[in-house]
Amino acid sequence: MNDDPVLLLREDLRDFAGYSSARSEKRDGRVWLNANEAAWPSVADGEGAVRRYPDPQPAALRERLARLYGCEPQQLLAGRGSDEAIDLLVRALCRPGGDAIAITPPTFGMYAVCARLHGVRTIEAPLRDTPDGFSCDFAALADTVEREAVKLVFLCSPGNPSGSLLPLPQIAALARRLRGRALVVVDEAYIEFAEGASAVSLLGSERNIAVLRTLSKAHALAAARIGTVIADAGLIAALQRCQAPYPLPTPCVGLALRALAEVPLNTTKARTATAMSERERLAEALRGLPGVRRVYPSQANFLLVRFDDAQSAFDGLLDTGVVVRDVRAAPQLGDALRISLGTPEQNAAVIEVLSRIARRAGVAA
Ligand SMILES: *Cc1c(COP(=O)(O)O)cnc(C)c1O
Repeated sequence: MNDDPVLLLREDLRDFAGYSSARSEKRDGRVWLNANEAAWPSVADGEGAVRRYPDPQPAALRERLARLYGCEPQQLLAGRGSDEAIDLLVRALCRPGGDAIAITPPTFGMYAVCARLHGVRTIEAPLRDTPDGFSCDFAALADTVEREAVKLVFLCSPGNPSGSLLPLPQIAALARRLRGRALVVVDEAYIEFAEGASAVSLLGSERNIAVLRTLSKAHALAAARIGTVIADAGLIAALQRCQAPYPLPTPCVGLALRALAEVPLNTTKARTATAMSERERLAEALRGLPGVRRVYPSQANFLLVRFDDAQSAFDGLLDTGVVVRDVRAAPQLGDALRISLGTPEQNAAVIEVLSRIARRAGVAA
């Protein structure tokens, strides 16, 4: 069997060259008059940093991200957040009106949104709620993929909103079983907060795996919109041909490079470690509160919490100006809220408000 993941692309796109932008044509020029840019800088733009169209994939950023994530630069494509990578994968691999993606609910909403927008079906293989937290039923998932015309399997690890980390050996085994049939996408938006290795380490042996990483969470650059897909170099080249011509705004690239320099990166790592210890402190405190049914173990920067009365908890927090995510509409989570970790002071405020609500409920009962 040919296991080249490029064969998983939509057949009608395999020879697609994409748009040839002025910036993608490499020339040894001195005077650049090929892209209809202005000949003067905007008055809002001092030195003219943004006068010209940007490099589609600036080498400095690509190399820096590759070093950070442990892959080769040509195995990586940067874009407008991992949201763009999800969309790109769905469009490049799935035929509208025929193919499907598989997801494991409760999970991140964008996989199904991108599929819907592209006219692609979404097949569900639900996570199982176990005493150790939500876990993925890999055997059921693989059966589902083999039954339907599934081209993409979206795994989220650590899961949003489950908080669970998926075991790498099982991800590798799933990819092996689906070789030549489907691409296994591992969304690692929160992996910086986890104790465990990235699925990037599996790419050497399993070519039908793609890993999503982002600067939006641990790196605190959500508004810069920089996310990355890491996969087989041939597949990455094909995905780039399907991407918009100028996905990376120059100011955002500059910001990312500054944030990923050695000293700022060390600060990011220290803050991530603090968030991880805050997470355990907050989880312990919440577990001690009456009215809290369950606090799930979390490898991310949020806690998934079940309440006797989630509405009162949500409203009580909102009354003091604290907004948490109501996830009750998600499958299996009819009594749950997702609470992002804040500063230690903000986390203390959450505990304070929720214990006040619990005391009040206790008096009323
Ligand atoms: C936040 C989040 C993302 C979005 O990342 P961007 O890089 O900001 O687009 C992707 N996946 C999951 C699971 C997330 O929770």
